[in-house]
Amino acid sequence: MKQKVIPYGRPWVDEQDVAAAVEVLHSEWLTTGPKVVEFEQAVAAYVGVQAAVAVSSGTAALHAAMDAIGVKAGDEVIVPALTFVATANAVVYQGGRPVFADIDPETLLLAPEEVEKKISPRTKAVIAVDYAGQPCDYDALRDIARRAGIFLVADACHSLGAEYHGRRVGSLADLTVFSFHPVKHITSGEGGMVVTDDPELAARMRRFRNHGLDSDHHQRFREGTWRYEMVELGYNYRLSDLQCALGMSQLRRLPEFLARRREVARRYDLAFEGLPALSRPRVREGVSHAYHLYVILLNLEVGGRGRDEIFQDLRAAGLGVNVHYLPVYRHTYYQSRFAIPGGVCPLAEAAYERLLTLPLYPAMSEAEVERVIMIVREILDPGLAPAQRYLVSLTAHDEAMRVCAEK
Ligand SMILES: *Cc1c(COP(=O)(O)O)cnc(C)c1O
Repeated sequence: MKQKVIPYGRPWVDEQDVAAAVEVLHSEWLTTGPKVVEFEQAVAAYVGVQAAVAVSSGTAALHAAMDAIGVKAGDEVIVPALTFVATANAVVYQGGRPVFADIDPETLLLAPEEVEKKISPRTKAVIAVDYAGQPCDYDALRDIARRAGIFLVADACHSLGAEYHGRRVGSLADLTVFSFHPVKHITSGEGGMVVTDDPELAARMRRFRNHGLDSDHHQRFREGTWRYEMVELGYNYRLSDLQCALGMSQLRRLPEFLARRREVARRYDLAFEGLPALSRPRVREGVSHAYHLYVILLNLEVGGRGRDEIFQDLRAAGLGVNVHYLPVYRHTYYQSRFAIPGGVCPLAEAAYERLLTLPLYPAMSEAEVERVIMIVREILDPGLAPAQRYLVSLTAHDEAMRVCAEK
């Protein structure tokens, strides 16, 4: 019997979520109504900041953040090499130049000392990316940003719900960006949000998402006026009430989603411990990882096979494994537009050659978790006899159950 492929990520929309969206469909406001404000306030309260601005995607949120801090032609913004292209694209939308900084080879997070090396008189900001869901070293990054007089922006599209020294991601940078794409922690179909404690930046982003107008439809309705002024160039980056209602309903389920992601990650950690063919990125002390992705680093010298071969074998065995990411500057567009020399971030390049993302999502069944563990062990450690493999897997399961029971 052919089993279904286990994807690397998948949304989990339940009947409650559906009912929340249907309620809006029967209401007066399909967009720019009360659900937008409700969702914004709920996310702001959850992460512990004053203001949140909902927009149509995480990418739009990054763009709004770059506009709010005034990134323009000739400005440089430091971004990690190991991230999704959208992080750097947001800088380019504004006519700025992304400057790529290398990562810490153990955590795979933006390395503060590498950021420091890339600061120039043109640097406007640094965008920290909480790769895979682990918060960056915000104390060090904040310190560097303060000394250099630049903005610290967090691309937290992987890390909603993560904590750093007891503080939630969202309250650690000048501006923090989230995505509600279906593979992320919570979804609104498509969607994004920027959170900040600066009311002026928030006001700018509210205009930016609505054509640069000084008021929105809901405000004018309440105030009984038709008049609006376009005070600067903006976009239509609005998030609808329909989407915000879904997002709001998903946000209520976030604690449950996070707990399950962490539980599955713990199961993998235990099952793969001591497997010579792979390593795990280090999780630093004092952080709570949100596990958007479960990433492994292949020890290629052990198996004698390359990452792409292993990738193919895992895919053929029914695991929807993935690779996050090709260093951004190696994409054709960045090569031709910015002519960045190969190897500017050697640690990100070296990590990229060994990276694999395993399936991880909150709706994963026990059987699916078990299947991932078995297949990974089988393909990465072909020397292990099947019976032994089964025992190792059961031991990991028992250990995880014990750890969960102790909590
Ligand atoms: C998902 C993601 C984005 C973009 O979010 P969208 O909602 O898909 O536009 C940006 N940066 C990172 C690191 C992401 O993972």
